[in-house]
Amino acid sequence: MISGFSGAGKGTVISSMRKQHDGYVLSVSMTTRKPRKGETDGVEYHFVTNEVFEELIRNDGFLEHAGYADHYYGTPRAFVEENMNAGRDVLLEIEVQGAMQIRKKYPQVPLIFIAPPDAAELERRLTGRGTDQEEVVNKRLRQAVVEAEAIPDYDYLLINDHIEPCAFSLNRIIRGTEDADHDAEEMQSPAEGGEIITDPEKKKAFASSFSADLPAILERRGIIS
Ligand code: 5GP
Repeated sequence: MISGFSGAGKGTVISSMRKQHDGYVLSVSMTTRKPRKGETDGVEYHFVTNEVFEELIRNDGFLEHAGYADHYYGTPRAFVEENMNAGRDVLLEIEVQGAMQIRKKYPQVPLIFIAPPDAAELERRLTGRGTDQEEVVNKRLRQAVVEAEAIPDYDYLLINDHIEPCAFSLNRIIRGTEDADHDAEEMQSPAEGGEIITDPEKKKAFASSFSADLPAILERRGIIS
């Protein structure tokens, strides 16, 4: 179960990890948001209407679903259950509300939060993507305030400073959980970067400094005054 600020590079880390390690399956979520440039239906998401989404909610077709930035997002149940039953490692890339629903249903699933090193870097990555309008970027930055607060609820905070070491660390977290102990030092990647933080105080400190830096960014962008 992987969360992170939208647009901060977690998708890139996940695909890098999957290129290096076999046996991972990525759950393709359903959403009511419109496809971005370059996105294909059935690849990044199943893009559907509100009506289709709500019908699936009524039929208990989602493992979890949430409202995020004015749209629905959800994890179709059948695909995940089939792959789990076949013994595969299924990756869910979902936001905070959905993560907490999964925690309740599958308490053994590791919750991982991937974050850029600091709030300034988050803004750089969001604006650097270039495919979203300013309004969308601003909305995601506002959302980041709430998301940062949830970081201490995750088992692992993974710092996404460099893609390769971060992908290495992600695999270590997931594949190492069965037999390795959770000692953070043992789980350090050999290359620089991709730090894994499990210490509750350190997670809290990271979340607090992120939350402390965001208001100034929102203010400069004219989002809050
Ligand atoms: P984006 O629109 O940038 O692709 O995604 C927005 C947010 O929705 C991201 O934080 C992403 O992880 C989350 N998300 C994607 N799919 C799902 C899902 O199936 N369920 C939930 N709860 N969140 C999702």
